[in-house]
Amino acid sequence: MNKRSLDFFKQLLNHIGPSGYEQTVSRFFAQEVKTFADEVVSDQHGNVMACINKGGSPRVMLAGHIDEIGLMITHVDDKGFLDVDQIGGWDPQILQGQRVWIETRKGRIPGVIGKKPIHKIKPAERDKVIKLEKLFIDIGASSKKEAEKRVAVGDPVVIAYEPQDFPNNLLASRALDDRAGVFTILEAGRLLSKMKPKAEVHVVATVQEEVGLRGVTTSCYAIAPDVGFAVDVTFATDFPSMDKKGGSVDLGKGPAVSRGPNLNPVLFDLVMSTAKKCKIPVQVEPAPHGTGTDANKMQLTRAGVATALISIPCRYVHTPCELVSLKDIEHGARLIAETVMRIEKDTDFTLGL
Ligand SMILES: [Zn+2]
Repeated sequence: MNKRSLDFFKQLLNHIGPSGYEQTVSRFFAQEVKTFADEVVSDQHGNVMACINKGGSPRVMLAGHIDEIGLMITHVDDKGFLDVDQIGGWDPQILQGQRVWIETRKGRIPGVIGKKPIHKIKPAERDKVIKLEKLFIDIGASSKKEAEKRVAVGDPVVIAYEPQDFPNNLLASRALDDRAGVFTILEAGRLLSKMKPKAEVHVVATVQEEVGLRGVTTSCYAIAPDVGFAVDVTFATDFPSMDKKGGSVDLGKGPAVSRGPNLNPVLFDLVMSTAKKCKIPVQVEPAPHGTGTDANKMQLTRAGVATALISIPCRYVHTPCELVSLKDIEHGARLIAETVMRIEKDTDFTLGL
């Protein structure tokens, strides 16, 4: 991956954007996509929609969600400790003992998620899982009044974790779900802006996926695409404790292409034949039901959208140390761009009756 793209990706990861609080990361994304798109707009929901080859046909939408899971401050207690609730699906086991960043109106401030020492936990309680309601944040305030000067109810929180390079083209970070996906569609759009596609291509950073696939619902309705590609991360199964019976996905062996009722079979075949022709490695991921991704709502928009789901294999999803291969991202972007190049006005995604 070239240095400019990698630097942009790491900065994208460093922005804070739990669902509903994506504004700064979305603006940062918009600034980059403007360097090659014909037109970039946002809507009342917060989605960023960039158009390439305006006036082309058919309409193709690429969707990646820009939000991440996080926490929200719900209450400041009498001593200045902060109670929190979750935005998106957390395993509360992950959160204890972590440093956090709180995005306040006056800027980012640090905190820690406190925990009673193991010495003080009764033996019978040690095997029990902690509930999220028991977690609290310490910002070092000496009183409720002092804490309220620094934070406000509703401020969003993420775990403090910077991107970390690993050998073999791997990168660890929080928020790879789904900044890896939204970065993949940006790179696909960048490629397509130089390739002269027949299609009108919409690169869309969707909001609020983690709280119910909300941004894709509004943006896909507005764009009314004929064909759509959702790009998310998927569960790699190549580390201890994972089961491969529901499908096997490894880091570094190419993007995963989902097959099943959520996906259009003609488009799936086109993606696979494109991968073969262009010698792009891919892995097929079985999806026997509606996926928990933007592809789900995309397929069901208006009278139906021919939908593909391309996923970046990811270890440790919904932890602060998500781990992906940069190679899979590069291959994903190329796979999408090359497939879009093969979609023309009369490409038929119906039964052809
Ligand atoms: Zn996701």
